[in-house]
Amino acid sequence: MIEDKFHDECAVVGVVNVPEAAKYCYLGLYAMQHRGQEGAGIVSTHGTQVFAHRDTGLVADVFSGEALTGLEGSLAIGHTRYATFGRKDKSNLQPLTANFLNSSFSIAHNGNLVNARSIRDRLEKEGSIFSTTSDTETFLHLIAKAKDKQSIVNRVIEAARKVEGAYSLVVKSGQNLIAVRDPAGVRPLSLGKLGSGYMVASETCAFDLVGAELVREIEPGEVLRITDSGELESFRIDESSKSRSALCVFEYVYFSRPDSVIDGKSVYAVRKQLGYELAGEHPVDVDYVIPVPDSGVPAALGFAQSSKIPLEFGLIRNHYVGRTFIEPQQSIRDFGVKIKLNPNAKLLAGKKVVLVDDSLVRGTTSKKIVAMLRQAGVKEVHFRISSPPTISPCHYGIDTPSKEELIASSNSTEEICEFIAADSLAYLSMDGMYRAVEQKRENYCDACFSENYPCGVP
Ligand code: SF4
Repeated sequence: MIEDKFHDECAVVGVVNVPEAAKYCYLGLYAMQHRGQEGAGIVSTHGTQVFAHRDTGLVADVFSGEALTGLEGSLAIGHTRYATFGRKDKSNLQPLTANFLNSSFSIAHNGNLVNARSIRDRLEKEGSIFSTTSDTETFLHLIAKAKDKQSIVNRVIEAARKVEGAYSLVVKSGQNLIAVRDPAGVRPLSLGKLGSGYMVASETCAFDLVGAELVREIEPGEVLRITDSGELESFRIDESSKSRSALCVFEYVYFSRPDSVIDGKSVYAVRKQLGYELAGEHPVDVDYVIPVPDSGVPAALGFAQSSKIPLEFGLIRNHYVGRTFIEPQQSIRDFGVKIKLNPNAKLLAGKKVVLVDDSLVRGTTSKKIVAMLRQAGVKEVHFRISSPPTISPCHYGIDTPSKEELIASSNSTEEICEFIAADSLAYLSMDGMYRAVEQKRENYCDACFSENYPCGVP
């Protein structure tokens, strides 16, 4: 199967003051499975004992059978992983747990620390021993070595002041749930009310599944402690973080589920608006608007409504293609994109179409889709992308190809159009993207489109 996309890396979830908290964590992770499919884990506690289960695989497979039943208690944190930094093995699965000062401490993390390597080198020189290659463990060591031995919040803040980069953290310490968002707020993290307790999650779609009510976003630079009696206390990593924000704009373009809400905005509504803007900037005279499923659907709908051209499902997706697919024999090996998508030939033959997708990364899949449509008899294939050209990799927790592999980093739009063999190709402008998001550009990270990295690079 070919997946020519940026890949979201991880999701975190935490539940406190709720009976059977691990089961809610599980459902939260299940709702956020799109953010990581390599493995998942949950750590829970009922006060005196700590329970943990982590394994590779999809959330439903990791917590099948008795695994979930054994995770007792009213406090739990969970994580689902798509490895970007560190080895793809079981030792890097989260949450990570350590014991120090007669207390158990667990942590799960979404994002990337740009100075993790240098901190780790220093800690190793000082005698620290690491058991994983994940930068989450760096955070754990910094918390363990923090000067304040009394207040866990102060220890987390001290650690957070030493790291740079993008991170949303959930921490279980004693009977406290601590949620942290980096000072620039690159990765999303929201707070929800769940019965008499609370839930925090990378995306609000996790709240919808369990009936939690969205309270608000955890703010950039905020450290939120929630006790097992449901009391909330808010702290800040650094006072200067109050006015800073660099939320990943790609969350709106592709990563988040369309039914999630970020900064009070429906991701679905923003994606549709991206399509409206795209149609306004790059109109085309065709018979049908065709979404590249599933990521291009809301933008294609916006494009169709704006241009008054009918939207049709010209590409049919097989939803059951997984990583277990085994290609039967060498002679018919190159299925390419057809394993996943099949053109609706009866609909498309002899027609002119515009394909709408959210992004174009290497261009390899787009090229195959164009070829497939031509084989199905399509007369003209125009491509429209509902975001600007991706010219630079992400260093903040997203799995991206190297700069050399990003086709737009070294090719003009005309050259890319020629490579994918489309009749025309156009991208949404940066201004168009921010018109759809309805926010000021300075409040967002758009480094993969601009090379303007708000939190430095490793
Ligand atoms: S570089 Fe791109 S993908 Fe990474 S955080 Fe910034 S906008 Fe998001």
